[in-house]
Amino acid sequence: MKFGLKKGQKLYSILKFKCPHCHEGEFFENRNPYHLSNMSTTLDNCPKCGRKFSMEPGFYYGAMYVSYALGVAHIVSFIVAEKVLYDQMEFWNFIFLVGFFLVLLTPLYYALSKIIWANMFFNYKGIKNEKS
Ligand SMILES: [Zn+2]
Repeated sequence: MKFGLKKGQKLYSILKFKCPHCHEGEFFENRNPYHLSNMSTTLDNCPKCGRKFSMEPGFYYGAMYVSYALGVAHIVSFIVAEKVLYDQMEFWNFIFLVGFFLVLLTPLYYALSKIIWANMFFNYKGIKNEKS
């Protein structure tokens, strides 16, 4: 079965790092969250629909709450996986494993937290004047 991601769904914008407003333009300067020099820098405006990505200065500070929630979800899912799959692991090995993947995935979580945060405030409108 094909995974039905369509324009107009918030998940589309989040997973594809697209503008939450039109789902066409890019949201980040660079789509790769591991591109370290401009890590998860958002564009000022959507290149397609022109939507401003920041509602006010410091708008993306709120994304910290989202990244905190992602971090908690990360740790909880590791705890569940450990209980289900092994349940034998040494405590400090487990802490190391969780921490290692947390560090590894932090750039991705950081990018996700920003686009999730933006999607909480911007709704899909599509591009105006678009010929159908
Ligand atoms: Zn747009």
